[in-house]
Amino acid sequence: MTSNLLFDRLMRAGVPAALALEAGGRRYSYADLMGETARLAGALVELGVKPGDRVAAQVEKSATNLLLYLATVRVGGVFLPLNTAYTLAELAYFLGDAEPALIVCDPAASDGLAAIAGGASIVTLDASGTGGLADLAANGSDTFPTVPRGPDDLAAICYTSGTTGRSKGAMLTHRALAANAETLVELWRFTNRDVLIHALPIYHVHGLFVATNVALMAGASMIFQSRFDAVSVLSAMGRATCLMGIPTFYTRLLAQPGLTREAAAPMRLFISGSAPLLAQTHRDWTARTGKPILERYGMTETGMNTSNPYDQERMPGTVGFPLPDVALRIVDETTGAPVVDGEIGVIEVKGPNVCAGYWRNAEKTAEAFRPDGFFITGDLGVRDSAGYVSIVGRGKDLIITGGLNVYPKEVETEIDTLPGVVESAVIGLPHADFGEAVTAVVAVGADGDITEADILDPLVSRLASFKRPKRVVFVTDLPRNAMGKVQKAQLREQLRVLFD
Ligand code: AMP
Repeated sequence: MTSNLLFDRLMRAGVPAALALEAGGRRYSYADLMGETARLAGALVELGVKPGDRVAAQVEKSATNLLLYLATVRVGGVFLPLNTAYTLAELAYFLGDAEPALIVCDPAASDGLAAIAGGASIVTLDASGTGGLADLAANGSDTFPTVPRGPDDLAAICYTSGTTGRSKGAMLTHRALAANAETLVELWRFTNRDVLIHALPIYHVHGLFVATNVALMAGASMIFQSRFDAVSVLSAMGRATCLMGIPTFYTRLLAQPGLTREAAAPMRLFISGSAPLLAQTHRDWTARTGKPILERYGMTETGMNTSNPYDQERMPGTVGFPLPDVALRIVDETTGAPVVDGEIGVIEVKGPNVCAGYWRNAEKTAEAFRPDGFFITGDLGVRDSAGYVSIVGRGKDLIITGGLNVYPKEVETEIDTLPGVVESAVIGLPHADFGEAVTAVVAVGADGDITEADILDPLVSRLASFKRPKRVVFVTDLPRNAMGKVQKAQLREQLRVLFD
């Protein structure tokens, strides 16, 4: 083995003099990426990182943060990105579980982390990309003998968001990351003429792997924005070709009067994922810009699984077709037998994109895979006769009321069409009689003037009585995490005693 599978593929297409990354007022060519990752790789080795070692990074988004990911892969290490919002108590769990050799953190966090670092070294990197790590790298060589790594070697461990029990570390191999990005480059027609607006965080697979791996593998360039800001994204559209975002990006951009056909004209592709994009947002976007959003579906453990097509119709409310190298089946939750088209079941996938299991957790790994190698996503989905897959919700969000199953999405879809409703989240709350009571949490915006009857009356003719909410709770906004996912567990917790 003489090559480093992921690193070499990421760096293969970029023309050395071509722009790879624009961030914080600095521009990096592909040649600069090679030089800078060499310097950082040298620093990592100096700090004791050996092939197979984990490098944990809890740092703000910056070019150096991205270069740190690439340098870690280049030294044969395993990159472990950590959400910048994690508290010390949460970090203690991740660090204890992953046992990194090195922790890279903001200078403000280093004292706190020192107490829970175990045997790991600590080095700093701040939001502007300076700190102990950058200082060490600055003096290093701009060449580095890239450490060979094969398809089954780990490139990263990403912890799941842990909404069901403890967070688990998905082991992402060189093969998984490289294969998924390669497939997406082709499917989404990325070339070295593309300029991607990158406004996602890079502690999560969407911003770190889907966005940057695809852009780099195509030899394209990225405009890094440290966080999402609708005005900045809008102004970058004039010199960009693609945007990858979560649904919130699109709803916030739609609130900008400056989002017009002309403003979006230079863009060839708008991609959405990580959380469901409302069909209405999809339609509004097409009406405003003339460019239908391409929605896709994936998860930390699998990378991307499905995508709407590039050429054929991008169907609102669906996540499209399985990727060419991904086998996808929808099965009955209890028997595991495939369901027919039009019926809801659990989505299972198999392909080179799927993780190698959970870090040091043989039990959870065994539970997540079927004997024939399919990974159980835990998402409920349905496939229509044309093959488009729709996500109906997470299995754990399924409501069982009076022994009957209610899929929240079906109820939400009806509520979302009602006048005055911005969006809704339907959850099950403990109920002495029904077990769980269907409850609608309805976002009406700041000036909403709407009653429970306005929601419930129109549903009488549209939904069977057991599916109709027993109560409606009005809010101005639904709680969301940084990736735009509605926090149903939080709503269930807050409203736990509603039916007491
Ligand atoms: P994460 O591991 O944080 O990337 O979250 C993965 C989960 O996000 C999936 O299992 C789905 O429940 C959800 N998800 C991702 N993309 C979509 C999408 N386009 N529509 C609906 N849910 C999605």
